[in-house]
Amino acid sequence: MKTLSSLEEMIAALRCLPGVGPKSAQRMAYHLLQRDRSGALRLSRALGHAVESIQHCTKCNSFSEEEVCTLCLSSQRDASMLCVVEMPADLLMMEQAQCYQGMYFVLMGRLSPLDGIGANELHLDRLVRRVQERPCEVILATNFTVEGEATAHYISTLLCAQGIKVSRIARGLPVGGELEHVDSGTLAQAVLERRDITE
Ligand SMILES: [Zn+2]
Repeated sequence: MKTLSSLEEMIAALRCLPGVGPKSAQRMAYHLLQRDRSGALRLSRALGHAVESIQHCTKCNSFSEEEVCTLCLSSQRDASMLCVVEMPADLLMMEQAQCYQGMYFVLMGRLSPLDGIGANELHLDRLVRRVQERPCEVILATNFTVEGEATAHYISTLLCAQGIKVSRIARGLPVGGELEHVDSGTLAQAVLERRDITE
């Protein structure tokens, strides 16, 4: 097997980034080597450090450098509310909208059978255990995409069977809408107008 030269290896490694094909990987590699070697070193150090130090919070499953993240440890948060979102970016959107004071659970994805992502991959057993810890209202804030809706439906069936109050953020968001791309006001309104979907 032919071993890659350092340059070839760099180009191959850059291709792990989303949307980066062979041409743009090559452009990035040349740019870093020709114009920004200190930037390249900083990038490699930051990547290595982040990958080694960032784990998942054992309570909310979001990214955290500690076992339990600061949000989960905060005494200012309302522990009787649990908001389920797909990704850490969605949690950030919710926080920026300043419309919610409760806790979170981050799925780190959505149900997507075609991609082989089922209930096990989403750690839904952990979500159920988390909810059983103490009674709370669960607000489903997955995206309004087909997969996000299917995920919300699956979770609501799962939790309603346990007698847990479940609500879904309102459809103020456009169909196919992703939380990440809506403005804070719309998101805040959607949370405010959430509807009870307990069966
Ligand atoms: Zn946490």
